[in-house]
Amino acid sequence: MVKVVLNKKIQIRIAAGHPWIYANEVATVSGEAKPGDIVDVYYHDNKYVGRGYINPQSQIMVRLLTRKEEAINDDFFYNKINEAWQYRRHTGYTENCRLVFGESDYLPALVIDKFNDYFVIQTLALGMDKFKPSIVNALNKIFSPKGIYERNDVPVRELEGMQQIKGFLSDPFDTDIIIKENGLKFHVDLENGQKTGYFLDQQDNRRAIEHIVKGADVLGAFTYTGTFEIHAAHYGAKSVLGLDISESAVAQANRNAALNNLDHIVKFEAMNAFDVLKQWSKDRRNYDVVMLDPPAFTKSRANIDKAITGYKEINLRGMKMIRNGGFLVTSSCTNLIQPELFLRIIDMAAKDARKKIRQVTYNTQSADHPIVWGWENTHYLKFLIVEVADR
Ligand code: SAH
Repeated sequence: MVKVVLNKKIQIRIAAGHPWIYANEVATVSGEAKPGDIVDVYYHDNKYVGRGYINPQSQIMVRLLTRKEEAINDDFFYNKINEAWQYRRHTGYTENCRLVFGESDYLPALVIDKFNDYFVIQTLALGMDKFKPSIVNALNKIFSPKGIYERNDVPVRELEGMQQIKGFLSDPFDTDIIIKENGLKFHVDLENGQKTGYFLDQQDNRRAIEHIVKGADVLGAFTYTGTFEIHAAHYGAKSVLGLDISESAVAQANRNAALNNLDHIVKFEAMNAFDVLKQWSKDRRNYDVVMLDPPAFTKSRANIDKAITGYKEINLRGMKMIRNGGFLVTSSCTNLIQPELFLRIIDMAAKDARKKIRQVTYNTQSADHPIVWGWENTHYLKFLIVEVADR
């Protein structure tokens, strides 16, 4: 097996258990390592670090799969995926969950979402992609699924020299499925929906709006399949309008409203939320509750200022439209915007909107997307509810 030896001076990150080894932390690679090969990693003094897959072209040269000298094979993946499943069962996520959340489950670059009997997988690095058959075997053995679908139509794969693809990893099945969440039903389009088809990371946060929406006029922006808005209607909102730029998301959201017999309360329209928030706040339109859940604004540090401006802008506009004593429900999934920064942005937006805010709820992603302490990039979702009052 190819041997990778680390520099004498390495970040304590690696010794502390982080699975990434950057190219500039490597002293020597002995033997010929092809992209995606399994390699053994050692400290400079020849002490064993662990075993992982290499991509000599990638900035993250090795991603460790284990700290033991164990074979990486069908059994390895079966055990790892089974452990991930046990964790979900212990924490109460059994019907729908992110079954494997990459690094957080010590399976770097692997994502598996479980939608009841259906599974969607993403293998986002070459070294993980090679083990797709082992991963599928494990799922078949543990769950006997009704279907497995691959959503590898993700640009990041090209950086790893792979193609974007999607398709069945089981016998073909109808990819328009219905899932249940908090007593509501949602169509999920596993083939053509965004990402894996549905955002499970907000599943607990959708319940957090239960009390604040009663009798309220609600505006939701960046609604995708309308999950938050349909929850709002279910929890007793008077009226709900949801906006998304994607026509197909809006069609799906309206279908979901009808599926739950809530289409007399909640409606969705295809609009650019940035334009609408700007115009409607100028027009002095008012709502009791405004909910914002935009996509990630940047993946690179170079654009972080733009992302900050974007968050400040939409939250400021949103707050301006909230009636005295109403509520703002706001999220950010931009990894590079850390929680403290997000809260500071909301504070700045409140000041500029001349509003006084009181915190009702602050949450992060649901526990089926575990946050490993010290691994910053596993903590990405910020979810905040504030009461908004006139100053
Ligand atoms: N709240 C949703 C997830 C939203 S994902 C849920 O819980 O499932 C972000 C959404 O923002 C996507 O559906 C995307 O189509 C939409 N979006 C992106 N840019 C937009 C814009 N300028 N105006 C409105 N919607 C936009």
